[in-house]
Formats: sequence, C-alpha cells, structure tokens
Amino acid sequence: MSMFTFVTAYALKSDKERSSKKKPDAQGRSDPQTSDEERWIVCRQCMQRLTRPSERTSINGSHQHTFANPSGIVFEIGCFAMVRGCSFIGPPSYEFPWFAGHSWQIAICSTCQTHLGWLFKGQAGTQFCGLILDHLKEIDAPT
Ligand SMILES: [Zn+2]
Repeated sequence: MSMFTFVTAYALKSDKERSSKKKPDAQGRSDPQTSDEERWIVCRQCMQRLTRPSERTSINGSHQHTFANPSGIVFEIGCFAMVRGCSFIGPPSYEFPWFAGHSWQIAICSTCQTHLGWLFKGQAGTQFCGLILDHLKEIDAPT
C-alpha cells in the first residue's frame, strides 16, 4: 500500500452535525446559522479557539471531505480558510497529494498537541486548513 486512498465521499455527510449536537440549547435546535458571528470552533481536547464557522471554505466544490489513510483510518475533514492556535510539523510534503497540486503539513494543536488535521498549500500561494471534524467542537463565545 503506497498510496492514500482518495475517497471523496459526499454521501457520508449525514453525521456532520454530530459534534455540535450535545450542547444544551433552550430551543433544542441544532441550526448552526443562528449566531455564526459569536461562535468559535475549538479544539475538543483543550477548548483552545482555532477558527470560526465563517472561515469555512469549499475546496473542489465541498467544505467537507473524507479521506482514508493507508491503514484504513477514515478522516472526515472540514476546510477552513484560516486557523490559529495550530503548529505545523515538518516540511511541506507532496508525497500523497490529497488535494491535487497542494502540499501538506501536519497541523497539531499548539496547546495540547492533538493532531488536528493538515495545512494545504497550493502553488499559486493559496492555502487552507483541513481540520478533522471529530477533533473539533463548536461553541458559543460571548464577545
Ligand atoms: Zn488542544
């Protein structure tokens, strides 16, 4: 097995809200549109603020992508234009291009070192972060 299996499984989208449903809400609603301005997406492990819902971006037509690594571990990632609080490990690699024409670096939480995803850089200078949705949590943050 020398290649990452490239699974762009749009059909797996149904459990995307799994991570944000636990929050007690007076209305019991899970609509993420309600107060995007005040919400943060944080590291599930240490609650460090990483990005905002408004930073969600679509790459190749979709915000969410599903990949499997050579060990068969499936990662569901969401693409974000900008993140903070992450450290990037190692030199950019083109070895297993998950997104054509983009190098990647591993992104970890700078506070608790949890593996959060990858930073992808395109040749035109574009870059975005693919964060593992299971390692994130969306919270309300009063300003
Ligand atoms: Zn963390």
